[in-house]
Amino acid sequence: MSVLIFIDTADGHVKKASMEAMSYGAKIAEQSGTSAEGVVLGSMADDMAALGKYGLKKIHHVVNDSLNHLDSQVYTKVIAQVAEATGAKVIIFPNNVDGKAIAPRLSVRLKAGLVSGAVALPEMTNGFVVKKNVFSGKAYANISVTTDIKIIALNPNAYKIVAGDGIAEVVTFNASVDTSKINVTNITKASGEVPLTEAEVVVSAGRGLKGPENWGIVEDLAKSLHAATACSRPVADAHWRPHNEHVGQTGFAIAPNLYIAIGISGAIQHLAGVNRSKVIVVINKDPEAPFFKAADYGIIGDAFEVVPKLTAAIKKLKGVA
Ligand SMILES: Cc1cc2nc3c(=O)[nH]c(=O)nc-3n(C[C@H](O)[C@H](O)[C@H](O)COP(=O)(O)OP(=O)(O)OC[C@H]3O[C@@H](n4cnc5c(N)ncnc54)[C@H](O)[C@@H]3O)c2cc1C
Repeated sequence: MSVLIFIDTADGHVKKASMEAMSYGAKIAEQSGTSAEGVVLGSMADDMAALGKYGLKKIHHVVNDSLNHLDSQVYTKVIAQVAEATGAKVIIFPNNVDGKAIAPRLSVRLKAGLVSGAVALPEMTNGFVVKKNVFSGKAYANISVTTDIKIIALNPNAYKIVAGDGIAEVVTFNASVDTSKINVTNITKASGEVPLTEAEVVVSAGRGLKGPENWGIVEDLAKSLHAATACSRPVADAHWRPHNEHVGQTGFAIAPNLYIAIGISGAIQHLAGVNRSKVIVVINKDPEAPFFKAADYGIIGDAFEVVPKLTAAIKKLKGVA
């Protein structure tokens, strides 16, 4: 038996959420006296042997043009073959878009119990119990998994990346790969320097900014912190900002180390997507804004005065003009 980790990539590069999943899977393998192995689907630009530094002993690489774009049905069948061949008893996914699309299908195919949104290592002294977020991050549940094969989808930013100096053995896995029913004709990449779901720091703004012409102060602050930009739903609905920046219950769920919310009231639907952030800073001119209850730090003030001052102070601190 082994622990198998799905290594999610973007443009052939390993995503940060996968590095966390590998570190997490390697720790489970260590605690259960087995080895951690990874599976990579499609073309890969990064050095796969170097992924051994996250604790993986072996990488199974399945090369096929059908795997260069996510088709969850095709991916599921291939990962199931790798899982069966390796005798994997624990399979780890990052709980991101790809993981959410594949893990439930794989769980049905392998008759495996699935815990999605895991936030900690499983408790294995008495059974196999995994702690996960429930009710949009408002509470935790401990789920006991009793199936022979167990699947865990790990929440991004819930487990620290642990990098050593190991080297993984890379083997080509000959899988039977279905032809994808999805034909990708065009890809439009999201703008912005830092991808939102991978960002350590996110600067987000809402209707308090009054209009799209005022987003310069948000972008300046984001740039000074090497942060991604995000927004509340009404802002995206009004086309002030693109929909790929919309966070919340109906948008992206994110968990950066720092989330700065500017002119956002803090509605429950917004909080649902951001309340797993490690530190929340709220800037709002209304001292009664609900967001202050969820904030670690709050600044009561007009965004148009506070944000440029904050940016200037950060630049000064960093010695940037
Ligand atoms: C089913 C459903 C799903 C939803 N999903 C989402 C979702 O995924 N994400 C989401 O964001 N919303 C979602 N919503 C909408 C949500 O309920 C709120 O309406 C929305 O989050 C409010 O956006 P806002 O905070 O930008 O705007 P507002 O509620 O209008 O708040 C603006 C804030 O800016 C402050 N402000 C005004 N001027 C300034 C200034 N000069 N300086 C500083 N502060 C200022 C105000 O005090 C206020 O607190 C959903 C709603 C429903 C019903």
